[in-house]
Amino acid sequence: MRVELLVTPDCPHAERAEAIVRAALTSDGREPVVERILVGDLDHAAGLGFHGSPTIRIDGRDVAATPDLPINLGCRLYAQPDGTLSGTVPAEAIVAAVEDSRQRAADARAARPRLRDVPARLSRALFLWASRRHGLARLATALPLTRGMVRRFVAGDRLEDALAVLERLHAGGLRWTVDVLGESVASREMAATAADGYLATLDALAERRLEANVSLKLTQMGLDIDADFCRQNVARIVDRAREIGAFVRIDMEDHSRTDATLAIARRLHAGYHDVGVVIQSYLRRSADDVEQLIRERVRVRLCKGAYDEPATVAFVTRAEVDASFARLAERLLADGRYPAIATHDEALIDDVIRFAAANGINPDRFEFQMLHGVRRDLQEGLVAAGFTVRVYVPYGAQWYPYFLRRLAERPANVLFVLRTLVRERRG
Ligand SMILES: Cc1cc2nc3c(=O)[nH]c(=O)nc-3n(C[C@H](O)[C@H](O)[C@H](O)COP(=O)(O)OP(=O)(O)OC[C@H]3O[C@@H](n4cnc5c(N)ncnc54)[C@H](O)[C@@H]3O)c2cc1C
Repeated sequence: MRVELLVTPDCPHAERAEAIVRAALTSDGREPVVERILVGDLDHAAGLGFHGSPTIRIDGRDVAATPDLPINLGCRLYAQPDGTLSGTVPAEAIVAAVEDSRQRAADARAARPRLRDVPARLSRALFLWASRRHGLARLATALPLTRGMVRRFVAGDRLEDALAVLERLHAGGLRWTVDVLGESVASREMAATAADGYLATLDALAERRLEANVSLKLTQMGLDIDADFCRQNVARIVDRAREIGAFVRIDMEDHSRTDATLAIARRLHAGYHDVGVVIQSYLRRSADDVEQLIRERVRVRLCKGAYDEPATVAFVTRAEVDASFARLAERLLADGRYPAIATHDEALIDDVIRFAAANGINPDRFEFQMLHGVRRDLQEGLVAAGFTVRVYVPYGAQWYPYFLRRLAERPANVLFVLRTLVRERRG
């Protein structure tokens, strides 16, 4: 455990602060090592993220931290258990911070990747790598043998295929959101055509009096070409949605697009409240994003995240991603606006149901979401138990990256691919 005491040279509380830290740390019989850091000037303070003297930092976290304090070289006052303010950190807060740090270290040890996870990681990485190869996409979409496999996850090439799936969902008491497949378009024309596809879909849903709810990706709408053009393109869809009372969800792509996606979603949401966005629990930043979206009353779909992300921005182990999902789901259930819990993970779904029941949150204040072709049994079971379940129904010819991400999600899908290849070759 790394314990630092950050003080200005003339701090009147430095000695007493160090004595309290030492006393708190020796409570378990160990000889404490406290590193004293003298903070000389404002530049130094800014580099250290120092907000006043004395500051006790355990494993990089300030004890009794007050977020949003300005960087300064003055004295810092801490609330004491008796309600007064004083220049030293209360011993109770130090003991709690030490305990918290030990717990984090234990959690990190438990979450360390295990050898048996390696094959799953490799197959995931391979599929996600393949999902980004345009040459493979051309090859795969030309091969008839992939079609049967794709049909498990994709409604079909045409809008009619999607509508047929919706009719079946409707009969089973399920809801839907329709995705007109496509991402990372290379020209403005392609982006405009993709938006036209969504307009046609919204019109078809409205004509048939089917719930109009669509999900789209910003790279399909030209985000990589020009963010402003992209927003205007999506605004055409949002305008039509407003006319017919539809809901538009903006999917989340890889972390390099998170800021731009949230910015565009916020702007469109300001003009029409039935625009929502997606948060991925594997991203380390998501706790902050969720709090802000709660404040802004933006509807959030929470998912684990489907892209190949570096450890600098994303949690690596399944345990961390799941723990993050559970925490974010609770925040959204407690204070969010009609959140969508998008997972097929039964343990997390059970947690959500338990948390909602324990906190008096009615099932009509949130919904579950799942993918077309995945865990139909679970979808139907939840509907039978009185929950709303919305199924993500993708259609269109640009199915390749979406399909590869689905394969990446489950190691057993490798076997599924191989078995289907063998069967289709024989047949
Ligand atoms: C409605 C919806 C919208 C989504 N939108 C986005 C988005 O905008 N951005 C984004 O990054 N990700 C999105 N995702 C994908 C998500 O991030 C996960 O990659 C995906 O849902 C798998 O994670 P899981 O939560 O089901 O948990 P996992 O732990 O991956 O899976 C739990 C169980 O579900 C089953 N399962 C899960 N996936 C599959 C599969 N492909 N094939 C077969 N069985 C499977 C298995 O039984 C597995 O054991 C979305 C997911 C859903 C359900």
